[in-house]
Amino acid sequence: MANLTEKLLALAGKGYGGYKSLSGAYQFAAYILVFDHIQVDPFAPATTLHLVLPLKKTGLPKQLLATKNRRIAVADFLQRAVTQAILASDLPQRGTGHSGEIHIGHCGQEILERTAIIFAKETLEVRLTVGLPANGRRIDAQAAVKIFSKILPQIVQKSLLYDQLDQRKLQEQVELYEMQQELRQQMRDQGLVAFVANGAILPRDSGDSDLPLKNGVPFVSPASLAVTFKLASGKKVAGMGIGQGITLIVGGGYHGKSTLLQALDRGVYNHIQGDGRELVLTDQTAMKIRAEDGRSVANVNITPFINHIPGRRNTAEFSTLNASGSTSQAANVIEALESGAKTLLLDEDTSATNFMIRDTRMQRLVSDDREPITPFVTKIQALSKQLGVSTILVTGGSGAYFEVAERVIMMNEYQPGDVTKRAHEIAALEGPTSLTAVQTNFGQLEARIPKKSNFRVVTRKDRFKSRSRTEISFGHSNLNLSAVEQLVEASQTRGIAALLAVLKRDYFDEQTTVAEMLDSLYDKIDQQGLDQVIGGKSHLGDLAVPRPQELCAALNRYRGLRMLHRK
Ligand code: ADP
Ligand code: MG
Repeated sequence: MANLTEKLLALAGKGYGGYKSLSGAYQFAAYILVFDHIQVDPFAPATTLHLVLPLKKTGLPKQLLATKNRRIAVADFLQRAVTQAILASDLPQRGTGHSGEIHIGHCGQEILERTAIIFAKETLEVRLTVGLPANGRRIDAQAAVKIFSKILPQIVQKSLLYDQLDQRKLQEQVELYEMQQELRQQMRDQGLVAFVANGAILPRDSGDSDLPLKNGVPFVSPASLAVTFKLASGKKVAGMGIGQGITLIVGGGYHGKSTLLQALDRGVYNHIQGDGRELVLTDQTAMKIRAEDGRSVANVNITPFINHIPGRRNTAEFSTLNASGSTSQAANVIEALESGAKTLLLDEDTSATNFMIRDTRMQRLVSDDREPITPFVTKIQALSKQLGVSTILVTGGSGAYFEVAERVIMMNEYQPGDVTKRAHEIAALEGPTSLTAVQTNFGQLEARIPKKSNFRVVTRKDRFKSRSRTEISFGHSNLNLSAVEQLVEASQTRGIAALLAVLKRDYFDEQTTVAEMLDSLYDKIDQQGLDQVIGGKSHLGDLAVPRPQELCAALNRYRGLRMLHRK
């Protein structure tokens, strides 16, 4: 520490590039500080560094780190604690550019596996960015000394040492995460694809906030769908269980249908205490499917849904740079299946009507041989029975799905009721709403293999970068992820960008299918952690492990994508 202070003081007033000479490691009382990448300019992305603490010195009890689940929960907790400590710290007056800014990756409402805090056998590593302070373009040594000799040690003191932490809250977070994982296991054992605990608060504070709505009406399961889990701890949890197969969510407008479905799409993640959705849990492979006109599609066999489109375009290897509502939704379903999704979530609000249904009148006007679309309603049973893929569908405007639904949940003033029997009676009484309401085989699913030439590197600019939660770029092409609704944190998108580079580096061999790649890659991530799989000495602290579904979704949105079909 004295060494660093001395070096900094010697740099006082010098040109900003002088900071480069700090490169290296410094021993502090509680940790070793290592500079990873030192910025060359006060406006450049801030300097990345990491701190290595001996686990013994942190005082974290061994049992809190004994399993992977616990380590994920503890790392998430500590990352939030560091964020709080940074906010509370007395940072020097701002200078030029990013002067004096200290950051750790941002955490939303989900507990994710991230790279900001890494547990090794005997150490804990924390990755931060620090904007090295400047006056104009000159080194502000006083401010830098304050940051490194005072503020950072205080942040570590407050947020990473067990005796300073809110130990009860930490324990609670670990217990919550373990309970969520245990419930997920029990759900799988009982064949449930989703669970909403009684008392859950589903609505969010506002359209652009992920915090719970104050005074939201708590969820209460209808008696007929109620399940109770008994946990190993002896604790019991009751709520609504949604079994495999076909589930409809119906109800009047503004009665909470989409809110329920949104909570379910987020239920693939575990939420923090106080979120309201802690015990809203969904099959972790569940994929929200929507129409996304304008997206590009590469070599997807969409024949289960679309055939004979004008211009004799081949829909068995359908490619376009500008999909329509229905073709984009068809591609989204097929790609979700390829990425391992076993539950599909659809909302009429974001679906293409002609993809979902086709009624008798329209069939009389536009004959079947002129309509390329085989609507989803005729495939939904095959999805379930042939492929073992469940669907949860919000539909307030059409009764076309009544006869195929195993359960129909009606939202009424934000409260669910079970109206399955009544819906079936109505369907039986009135007959089918559509001539094509005949269930057919799902059709061919094809394994795709990425070509080696994807993401060709020509210039140094051809690298994967992510600027926000919804954007990845590679050279001049943008992968637009704004319709990939289950991405919740920018850190996941950065994780995807890094993993796309890994896929290209290690897997694009024109032999391995997309599904095989995902299997192998995620096995590795499980065993070694995201950090190791990405490789290099980057110590990137702002990544989270994305789901295979979103990784695949990003790949599929690369506008230059070329895929082969397995012969
Ligand atoms: P629908 O899809 O049925 O038209 P939404 O799910 O969009 O309705 O909900 C309509 C409004 O009601 C939203 O503003 C939502 O935040 C609010 N809302 C939903 N569920 C609840 C609830 N449990 N308590 C209070 N407000 C809710
Ligand atoms: Mg809605």
